[in-house]
Amino acid sequence: MEESSYEYFDVCIVGASIAGNYLSFLLSTSNLRIVVLEDHREIGLPFQCAGIISQKLSQLIKLPKGIVLNQVITAKIVSSSGKFIKLSGDEHPYIVDRVALDRLYYDKNQRNTKVTYYLGEKYKSFEYQIDNDKKYVLIETSKRKIKSNLLVGCDGPLSSVGKQLKVKNDVLYATQIRIKAHFSEDEAAMYFDPQWKQLFGWIVPEGNLIFRIGIAAANNVNECFKRFLEELNIDINNKIDQQGGIIPYGIMNHIAFDNIVLLGDAAGQVKATTGGGIIMLLTAAKYASRCVNLCFKNNNFSKKAIKKYYEKPCSQTIGRELKLHYLIRLILEKFKDKDFVIFFKIIKENRIEHLITLYGDMDFPKALIIKLLRKRTVLSFVLKFLVKNPVIIFKILKLLF
Ligand SMILES: Cc1cc2nc3c(=O)[nH]c(=O)nc-3n(C[C@H](O)[C@H](O)[C@H](O)COP(=O)(O)OP(=O)(O)OC[C@H]3O[C@@H](n4cnc5c(N)ncnc54)[C@H](O)[C@@H]3O)c2cc1C
Repeated sequence: MEESSYEYFDVCIVGASIAGNYLSFLLSTSNLRIVVLEDHREIGLPFQCAGIISQKLSQLIKLPKGIVLNQVITAKIVSSSGKFIKLSGDEHPYIVDRVALDRLYYDKNQRNTKVTYYLGEKYKSFEYQIDNDKKYVLIETSKRKIKSNLLVGCDGPLSSVGKQLKVKNDVLYATQIRIKAHFSEDEAAMYFDPQWKQLFGWIVPEGNLIFRIGIAAANNVNECFKRFLEELNIDINNKIDQQGGIIPYGIMNHIAFDNIVLLGDAAGQVKATTGGGIIMLLTAAKYASRCVNLCFKNNNFSKKAIKKYYEKPCSQTIGRELKLHYLIRLILEKFKDKDFVIFFKIIKENRIEHLITLYGDMDFPKALIIKLLRKRTVLSFVLKFLVKNPVIIFKILKLLF
């Protein structure tokens, strides 16, 4: 390929959803030439999110008016037989306008001439090129060829960048409707059931009596959703609109390669307990931005450097918490209705709600888990449960070693 047939950018980001837009915004002050490739023509569409995000969002980014549509104060956890517990604490998660959130940093980036967006353009593949002893990535899109020092895959759960690096996410399939209904406006509900054991069914109040009702499962998601709506007595024909989507399931992947970084859903930075990825990816994007700047400062784009500046800090922070989310998920997947009933009873009888109020954190559960396991009743319940389900112990050991 002729050298002149390539456009040159310092950084090429694939995907202009929340991860790609936020990272390019963070990098926009660094004087680097950045290109963002997005397959879709419109940012934020199709809308595919329940949009429930902890209040940490406003610590991580400056939230303009209009993004937060509602806040919930109670989480209702419902077992398959309809038994439930309601929990509330200091955390009042936001319900956000996800399309507006995706557009927030895209709009800001439009004011910066160093950031170029190519919309309606698909990333296809990359190859390495050595030029004057320096390694570059040559990127092929549906419309052009790009040469870059760094390629960042923010291209979601089925990442094409990741695929070429042999990084693959296990995934869940999700479906959701928005509908006018009469549930509680300040309560988010999670419905657990063996048929959709890899996550749960949800009711999230958007505000103005509009609810986002959805489900995610590894198989038969449409069948599960039909059953879920029947249980809720909801007629799908009254929906305002319907969304689908894919959620990575597991723990964080390898995210550092020579001249290449993976971020967001592409990196598996998603909580296995809830399918939520936004707090994790915003946290990781800050490490990624620092890493990119250090790579340029040191003129070193090797896997070793990217591991040191990006993968290691991610692993030591969100990576550990994501493992914990996955361990909790492994346990929840084996929960039978009677286990939920016993667990609800333990929480109520031992006044564990106050621990949840003090230490409960939707994103970083470590502190709460440690406090809970110090309660004899909880520890004995978990140990008995693990003895009855030794397969979980093997999975935990595999994860740790
Ligand atoms: C139904 C559903 C509900 C969810 N609810 C919540 C929630 O309540 N709270 C929460 O925190 N998280 C939630 N999530 C997860 C959250 O939406 C993701 O973690 C988040 O969107 C990940 O952002 P991202 O930028 O990494 O990837 P994505 O949002 O998946 O964006 C990837 C982008 O890359 C583009 N792209 C892909 N391939 C290419 C290519 N080859 N070339 C060019 N562009 C490409 C895509 O078009 C897309 O714009 C939910 C997810 C789903 C599916």
